[in-house]
Amino acid sequence: MAEIIPHWLSKQAFLAPNKPAIEQVDGTVITFLELKNRSQEFAQRLASYGIRKGSHVGILSNNNSSMIVAIHALSYLGAVAVLFNTRLTSDEINYQLHDAEVEVLITADDLLDSAKDLKVNIVKSFQEVEEESRQDIALLSEFDLDDPITIIYTSGTTGFPKGVIHTYGNHWWSAISSALNLGLSEKDKWLAVLPYFHVGGLSIFLKSVIYGMPVYIVEKFNEQVVLDAILNRGVTIASVVTVMMQRLINLLGENRFPGYFRCMLLGGGPAPKPLLEKANEKHIPVFQSYGMTETSSQIVTLSPSDALVKIGSAGKPLFPAQLRISGNVPNEIGEITVKGPMVTGGYYNNQKATKNAFKDGWLYTGDLGYVDEEGFLYVVDRRKDLIISGGENIYPSEIESVLSGFVGLQEVAVIGIEDKVWGQVPAAFVVVNEEAITKAAIIEYAKGKLAKYKLPKEIYFVSSLPRNASNKLVRSKLLDYIHR
Ligand code: ATP
Ligand code: MG
Repeated sequence: MAEIIPHWLSKQAFLAPNKPAIEQVDGTVITFLELKNRSQEFAQRLASYGIRKGSHVGILSNNNSSMIVAIHALSYLGAVAVLFNTRLTSDEINYQLHDAEVEVLITADDLLDSAKDLKVNIVKSFQEVEEESRQDIALLSEFDLDDPITIIYTSGTTGFPKGVIHTYGNHWWSAISSALNLGLSEKDKWLAVLPYFHVGGLSIFLKSVIYGMPVYIVEKFNEQVVLDAILNRGVTIASVVTVMMQRLINLLGENRFPGYFRCMLLGGGPAPKPLLEKANEKHIPVFQSYGMTETSSQIVTLSPSDALVKIGSAGKPLFPAQLRISGNVPNEIGEITVKGPMVTGGYYNNQKATKNAFKDGWLYTGDLGYVDEEGFLYVVDRRKDLIISGGENIYPSEIESVLSGFVGLQEVAVIGIEDKVWGQVPAAFVVVNEEAITKAAIIEYAKGKLAKYKLPKEIYFVSSLPRNASNKLVRSKLLDYIHR
């Protein structure tokens, strides 16, 4: 049976009209009622382009309040917002525009010029939409939790990006799961600096509307601005990725976070142990988490009370979610599989990928990990990156983590290369900031820390590592470095 709920923004504007929904660095505030009115007006203007229920409408924008308005506006029309990473090349965007069958693309004002040549029929900037006249059409007052609201592409770290379809229900349950885990406080104000075109950033706005909680929006990461928000603007929760936290801690110096700051939600990728220890020294309440586009943001979280005993763990699955490691033996590494109402039903236009990823209602994440006796998850690496050398499994991230402790080594990536005797052997690609560093010195450093078969057989000195638009390391491209 269809589950129908009132439009969440209309409902919140009714419950708490004058409460701040959005706070901006310049001090301006948008209340829930204002946000609803602006979104509804924007929807009526968007209707000029023939957008209606089920239309796919692209949004190409960096973080700003207009982008949030546009996303809510599309939901008033029942249209699906396809969110584009602004760091993609035109070819990559064209691929996703085509794959997601986007009819109209709405861009931030400063991105309009560069978007004009993209392969889509209608391209309009936020400003241009604002200049359209309002159409007299009926806006949705409720939605079916099974209807799609967004399509967001995966980062394309292991292959071509796949368009993840999120329903209202997926986002609803993601917000509820997070509240059941972190609790809600009247004083909460969530800092939103992660890109809003990724699910982690988007989810903050949806939580805001569902909880009736203000978000403090930061358009671009800058440690000064973010630290100021935490120290002086009443922020209680912030979502960050590892490099942001690193930079915040460096800037913090001898300062301390205020007592009411209750959660630094850390996600998106692995977190190095030294960083977690440093955060603990500074009494920063770090919640490590694990999730992916397919799970509508985090699905596993570690609370600070467990952080020190379970250092390196991503925690336990959120209340309505389940997690299983294929094989089901404690401490044994296998593929991480998850299930829950926040998990997507599949990829747009890609039955093959959907069929590969889902079996019996479980999502096979492609990530390897293990669960300890108490049920805490440890993410090990991506399945595709596993190196098998003479029958032994080698996880590149373990070698990378050891080598990253070598002073003067800025970045490191490890992959398997062919070997006549062992099948595959590990090879490391390093970016160094001191020219005097030698292969022998790096191997010597690793010797006491890694078993012999895990020691890199080759070390390549390179000027940078291949990363995708989400700044994630693309290990599969490293082989090209050898062959060119
Ligand atoms: P693609 O699916 O296209 O290859 P992607 O998996 O990088 O790209 P995202 O959905 O942006 O796309 O990223 C999710 C992935 O990030 C997870 O599947 C996992 O590999 C990694 N990740 C997330 N959280 C953690 C964590 N706590 N520890 C280690 N890895 C993590
Ligand atoms: Mg993925």
